[in-house]
Amino acid sequence: MKPVEKYGNVAWVAGSPIDHSLSPVIHNSAFEGAGLPHQYFAIEVKPEELTDFVGNLQSMGMIGANFTLPLKNAVCEVVEDQTPAVETIGAANTLFRRNSGEFALDNTDVYGFEKLVEPWGERIRSEPVLILGAGGASRACLFALDRLNCPRIYLWNRTRESAQTLSEQYPYDITVLSDSELSEGEFEAGVVVNTTSLGLNESDGSPFPEQQIRDDMVGVDLIYNRETKFVQDFGEYGSDSIGGLGMLVHQAAGAWKRWFDTTPNVDIMKQAALDYLQDDQ
Ligand code: NAP
Repeated sequence: MKPVEKYGNVAWVAGSPIDHSLSPVIHNSAFEGAGLPHQYFAIEVKPEELTDFVGNLQSMGMIGANFTLPLKNAVCEVVEDQTPAVETIGAANTLFRRNSGEFALDNTDVYGFEKLVEPWGERIRSEPVLILGAGGASRACLFALDRLNCPRIYLWNRTRESAQTLSEQYPYDITVLSDSELSEGEFEAGVVVNTTSLGLNESDGSPFPEQQIRDDMVGVDLIYNRETKFVQDFGEYGSDSIGGLGMLVHQAAGAWKRWFDTTPNVDIMKQAALDYLQDDQ
């Protein structure tokens, strides 16, 4: 295990708003399960406070930190040492220490997504994947799909220009779909991934037309706070569907690996998140 204790025994998740972050529940359950004395806190940090926050972490000592919206892009302007994933995606969620003690950034959403889609690895290697959404989560998924050797990606976004810009920034085979191409099924896909935030609210519909779901299609939704209409539709008309809780837990496990060089108990993490979400309903 990396001797990070010499720096302190706290870790943080910073963002704004931060009240509903599941990260403290997930990490504190794993610390407790491993018998570690560490504590993980959520802290409200606005973009204009970010540089001071990172500077204070350096001087006060800490194991590591996570960043959530709206800081994932901004933190890349503050910490220079970045993994190739962060350099490509332009967003980071994890601050860790190199062996020298210096800070560096990683994007463990990539690892979280890779673990989430592991059951369909063979299909991803051999069939096109359709990604819905062109925000930060979409960027992490595109990077992961390239690492997984996905042969071709279709990309749709509510604001088409953002999908077009994103497709030009990535050196992969990406075909951008118009609204009509999506609704008329002018694409191929074994796996469809919802990276949009449509579904976060109970009354939300699905971004994917249910008449285009084939019975051999898999639906993967990054949203984890509820069973979305997207997940329900693929459960009913497709071959399989899954929500984003596994990705959330595995991105936390990825951060832990960066901090300690060991693997946490992801079952404990997942159960803690499930209990929290159940109490929150
Ligand atoms: P983001 O950067 O703000 O991007 C939001 C995306 O959702 C954009 O593509 C946006 O399209 C689209 N969108 C928003 N409202 C929509 C609507 N009503 N209809 C269709 N599209 C809509 O956010 P993000 O960081 O990518 O996160 C997106 C989702 O992924 C969130 O729900 C987040 O909770 C989830 N997520 C989950 C995990 C996990 O570990 N499971 C990790 C990261 C993110 P426009 O460009 O047109 O605005």
